[in-house]
Amino acid sequence: MEIQRRINVTQSSMPSFEEYVEEIRSLWETRWLTNMGAKHKKLEEELCKYLQVPHISLMVNGHMALEMVLQAFNLSGEVITTPFTFASTTHAIVRNGLVPIFCDIRDDDYTIDVSKIESLISERTSAIVPVHVYGNMCDVEAIDRIAEKYNIKVVYDAAHTFGVTYKGKGAASFGDASMLSFHATKVFHTIEGGAVCFKDEDLEKPLYYLKNFGIQGPEVVKDVGANAKMSEFQAAMGLCNLRHIAEEIEKRRHVAEAYQENLDGLKGIVVWKKQAEVEANYAYFPIRVVPENFGCTRDDVFERLAEIGVNTRKYFYPLTNAFDCYMDIGSPADTPVAYRVSKEILCLPIYAGLDLEDVRRICNCIRECQRIG
Ligand SMILES: *Cc1c(COP(=O)(O)O)cnc(C)c1O
Repeated sequence: MEIQRRINVTQSSMPSFEEYVEEIRSLWETRWLTNMGAKHKKLEEELCKYLQVPHISLMVNGHMALEMVLQAFNLSGEVITTPFTFASTTHAIVRNGLVPIFCDIRDDDYTIDVSKIESLISERTSAIVPVHVYGNMCDVEAIDRIAEKYNIKVVYDAAHTFGVTYKGKGAASFGDASMLSFHATKVFHTIEGGAVCFKDEDLEKPLYYLKNFGIQGPEVVKDVGANAKMSEFQAAMGLCNLRHIAEEIEKRRHVAEAYQENLDGLKGIVVWKKQAEVEANYAYFPIRVVPENFGCTRDDVFERLAEIGVNTRKYFYPLTNAFDCYMDIGSPADTPVAYRVSKEILCLPIYAGLDLEDVRRICNCIRECQRIG
């Protein structure tokens, strides 16, 4: 029963050393290491095709991608979002001088509860920033209708949805724009990295300038930009990883299915399920431990798994509206569904190289927690 090596919640996939070296070889000739070079351009082209999006702008990481796109839209006032997300989503809003208004989530897929959005809209609302949590798609159709009715922007935090499609369309093609993260822990990565996918061609230049200090020409700086450029070494890692993405997702699917089989019918455990009309990427494998039915808590399961060498993640806990820095703008009590989910959710290890035998042992350990209570 004891697992000898520690198993982490994720493990980065990498191309072979030789494949990466071959990809970066030309950089020793061109000496063009960053600032939108050849690798950057090629990765943008290949990602547009793979993701089925009309336009893309690569960024140094997902967080800066979100900051840059919110700035490019020149938003003001309030932005409706959810607290069941990574710190980055709320921080990007606040760092743009905007006020996050926290909307509750749905109990089944943990995305924004669209039936609660309209009551939060005010004169000051300029955008909605929903999150496709764990690669589960938000109700994009309903969100579109609301945005159109009130003439506000929709910017998705699509950090979890690389490679996901909904009704055959790329997950990052919905709304006015979507942010993707290519962090080392994501399904597809460029070590650190990210992108903005967007509909309107007119956003291309503003994003290009903003990620390069707002510099428009050798002597022209019009906007207060940042440095959010993706380097050639990051782009090269992306070009390599993109060649193996189908296999990566396929291996993750096997892990997810093994969890589903092994945890099937276990009372008090809610197991992640793929949504209808969605091709999933199996980025995460969240379960919910419902203490009234299971007999012990999420934290008990977390600790028992840690004892046998399995690192799981309370993701997302705490809610962002419970953070010290957001004490005066919200409270978990405003979003009761999200609050409850944050106390019950546990992300189990999932990555391409995870042994299915380890999955079975992890599931046995969870079953034993119930027996011990
Ligand atoms: C990873 C992640 C981000 C931030 O992306 P980085 O590339 O790490 O900056 C933002 N939102 C969500 C939901 C994420 O999971």
